[in-house]
Amino acid sequence: MGEDVDALKRRLPLLDYLRQHNWTGHPASRSEFVGLCPLHEETRPSFYVNTRKNVFYCHGCGQGGDLIRFIQLSRHLSFRQSLARLDLQTSPTVDSAAVLEQAAAFYQQQLDHYPEAMRYLNRRGVQDPALIGELEIGYAPGGSLRRHLTAQGHSFDLLRQAGLLNVNGSDAFYQRIVFPLRQGEHVVNLYGRSIGAAFTHRFLPGAKGGLYAWEKVRHYPEVIVIEGLFD
Ligand SMILES: [Zn+2]
Repeated sequence: MGEDVDALKRRLPLLDYLRQHNWTGHPASRSEFVGLCPLHEETRPSFYVNTRKNVFYCHGCGQGGDLIRFIQLSRHLSFRQSLARLDLQTSPTVDSAAVLEQAAAFYQQQLDHYPEAMRYLNRRGVQDPALIGELEIGYAPGGSLRRHLTAQGHSFDLLRQAGLLNVNGSDAFYQRIVFPLRQGEHVVNLYGRSIGAAFTHRFLPGAKGGLYAWEKVRHYPEVIVIEGLFD
């Protein structure tokens, strides 16, 4: 156990973790950074991070310790829960394909419930239910994905990493037709086409480009390649 914890902490230094969570620190000495304490309200920085020892100490609230301790305090988790969270966070590729898969499935279920989405597809010449099903086309109404996926046990950090949530924790896709982009078996990204006033095209961060639905057409003797998903 002890060795695992050390390995985890090496994989993600405390300072990196804090910066990923929008903490801003300024160099205070050779191996120290100082900034506002994320654990209590303050206006003058008293939160110190020692990068050599990989620990923090706050002169304001008196809290201190390593990364695990910080996660315990900031997230109100037990030692064991903090370890589990950290483990998930330091191995991002493991679950991000799975979480994209579940997001795509959720969006697919939504399509039938939003007539405006079907109207948009029909207007763009996509009417065949079999084709819609085969291409796994879905609809993101916005505002309900986070609740759905966290209820499935996915952490907020993972949803953020996959780009499904914005920095403020709201759904990245609002009122968008969603196409899952697959490479082989795995969903590698989602493309969202706005049916409202938002900017037309949107991908999640991660792999873009390549050929959409290539697996579905590769066995045909002739294939016409076009630029956009609705062309
Ligand atoms: Zn503090």
